Amino acid sequence: MLVRRASEALAGKELDAILAGCFEDAGLSGVLVELDRALDGGLERLRAGRELPAAVGETLLWYRPPGLACSLLVMVGLGKSSDWGPAPLYRAVAAAARQAARKPRRSVALDTSLVLNDTSVPTAIAAVLAGCQGQDLYRSEKKLFAFEELWLPVGSESDFRTGVILGESVNLARRLVDQPPNVIYPGSFAELAADLCREVGIECDVWDEERLEFERCGALLAVGQGSARPPRLLLMRYRGGPADQPPLALVGKGVTFDSGGLSVKPTEGMKTMKCDMAGAATVVAALHAAARLKLPVNLIGLAGLVENLISGSSYKLGDVLTSRSGKTIEILNTDAEGRLVLADLLDIAVEQGAAALVDVATLTGSCIIALGNHVAGLMGNHEGWCARVAQAARRAGEPVWPLPMYAEYAEQLRSSIADLKNVGEGRAAGAIVAAKFLEEFVRGRPWVHLDVAGPAFLESPKPWCDGATGAFVRTLVEVARQWTGRVEETAG
Ligand SMILES: [Zn+2]
Repeated sequence: MLVRRASEALAGKELDAILAGCFEDAGLSGVLVELDRALDGGLERLRAGRELPAAVGETLLWYRPPGLACSLLVMVGLGKSSDWGPAPLYRAVAAAARQAARKPRRSVALDTSLVLNDTSVPTAIAAVLAGCQGQDLYRSEKKLFAFEELWLPVGSESDFRTGVILGESVNLARRLVDQPPNVIYPGSFAELAADLCREVGIECDVWDEERLEFERCGALLAVGQGSARPPRLLLMRYRGGPADQPPLALVGKGVTFDSGGLSVKPTEGMKTMKCDMAGAATVVAALHAAARLKLPVNLIGLAGLVENLISGSSYKLGDVLTSRSGKTIEILNTDAEGRLVLADLLDIAVEQGAAALVDVATLTGSCIIALGNHVAGLMGNHEGWCARVAQAARRAGEPVWPLPMYAEYAEQLRSSIADLKNVGEGRAAGAIVAAKFLEEFVRGRPWVHLDVAGPAFLESPKPWCDGATGAFVRTLVEVARQWTGRVEETAG
């Protein structure tokens, strides 16, 4: 999609569609006044009759509006003006774009009053791109079509480029997650990712099962041992910063399909388990964006790719694994596999010299019980680093909420036969207990864990998105953008 700066007024411009937003609690202003004049007071009449959309992402479609040269006007609700920020902006713009994208359109304009200021231009553009992509990958009749040109009344060439790169990376992550598990498995994911890395100059090592064996990745290997498709590990390096800048590590869980293993999931819980590699997809997409944006920082990306399946060689309850760090783990639930994969990845990230770590994982259903579907759990071992990552998420408009990490939670992980067991006692605080497990493998380095089990995949469609969301790609890019090579005690 080509993004261009519109210098003339939108009302008289030949366009296929105009996307315009209105606040629930404010009158018409800015471009809306201009549109209303061309529509001979039509918008004002709708507003007076309370017919304009109000809630974020609600839309009203006006075909062939008299007085405008465009064939479709999409009005989208922006919610309350006091709640305005990057999160409603992204949702509203994506919802408006999604409506217009239901048929092929050449040129579409985005109304400026949707956009707060120049810093939100990249977010708005990313939202348009995301709004135009659905999960119709294997439908012969497509449901959504990307626009050829997008016209914006504000923003610079560099904002436009940033927005397009962010949107394309979000869509890349979404495509990887939406692909079915017979297409995306450890080997095919690794090949795709290696190609993507090559495109943009990221070094990418793919570890096969022999290398994983040699590297003592006993926890990761155990999870994958029930599948006919062997595990893979991606070790990616982007060197955009000074040679002496210690790298930031981005670490992603990549369980390409999770049956639960011998602790098998019921059908309902298994149907969308292709999305259990969303963390790995997020990391690959964020690194790809960082390289295209030429961010002046050093990054390491790690993705652990396995299928958690059932066969005669599956790992079992009662097994004791030796993780790469040397710590032994008693397995009491084979569906708590993500933390085993991450245990070895985190150990490698530390060994590779990471000065700070962020991992992204669809880790626990418990996190959804605690926070719902649209908020990610944020846990870590370092106040300043947690605050820094939370700040980046806020700027990207991707909601996170901190969960406590008191030492007491780790008591549940004591095993009588090994150093740790892979699940706690019962259902209490499952998301936190999982994070306490991960903490055992970061050797005290500043580390943040994002549990994205809720936000990664929409079980039912929303006005702005369906299926995979690409959530936290933009947050990771923002964290990378801010990386200085070290972590302050408290965020500035
Ligand atoms: Zn699982």
